[in-house]
Amino acid sequence: MTGDKEKLQSYSALEKGKKVSFGNDTLAVIKGKGTVQLKEKVKDGNVLYVDGLKYNLLSVSHMCDQGTEVIFRSNGCSVRDLDIGKTVIKGIRTPNNLYIFEEGQQQCYLSKNDEHWLWHRRLGHLSFSQIRKACKYQAVRDLPDIRIPENTICKSCQFGKKTRTNFPEKEGSASRPLELVHTDICGPSRTKSPRGEEYFILFIDNFSRMVWIGLLKHKDEAFEKIQIVQSLGRNESDHKIKCLRSDRGGEFTSNEFSISVKNME
Ligand SMILES: [Zn+2]
Repeated sequence: MTGDKEKLQSYSALEKGKKVSFGNDTLAVIKGKGTVQLKEKVKDGNVLYVDGLKYNLLSVSHMCDQGTEVIFRSNGCSVRDLDIGKTVIKGIRTPNNLYIFEEGQQQCYLSKNDEHWLWHRRLGHLSFSQIRKACKYQAVRDLPDIRIPENTICKSCQFGKKTRTNFPEKEGSASRPLELVHTDICGPSRTKSPRGEEYFILFIDNFSRMVWIGLLKHKDEAFEKIQIVQSLGRNESDHKIKCLRSDRGGEFTSNEFSISVKNME
């Protein structure tokens, strides 16, 4: 942001200028925007002209969005272009704790508020107590004296610590073949089989995960198929179907079906 319109190249006025608010709750109107040559090879193409602004302010988040890294140290600051990996702007720290880019004609005042968070991110989201330790023992070169901020909740850290609760223990699992058999009927299918069947019934044994499939012309043939599965099971494992679990579709809940299953050998 600047209050000096003369500094802006390719200036365009904003008709319905938004307002910007400052720390002391005063508002100023954004009248236009343009480009500023910060350094020989560094341009900022989105500089706002704010009526009455006495200083030129540079937004750290805006600089970071443009592919640079802004680094604050106890004695100064620098902007590094991440593409070429080189420092493109350097600044100093004034006795009243402002960071100033004094090279060139522009003066940019930056806030130091983000410094602890910058180091938190830079050190792989290290906790502030550990960063304090690193400061105390001077374990990291160029690490400034980072104070623990009032609010230490980091959004990324919170996401990283999230875990899923365990899946509940399996309930009602079978301990032997045919103790629990799941079943369902699907159909009618669009194309009938050569023998005219248009439904199929599925049986899955809960214990062995064995699957049987039978083709049906009508849903009321379900009981016949259950009998087949019952006799197959008895031949192969010497067990009987103890419990049949379905979606309680009409084919499984009719009186005839219940009686037939009860009397099934
Ligand atoms: Zn974090």
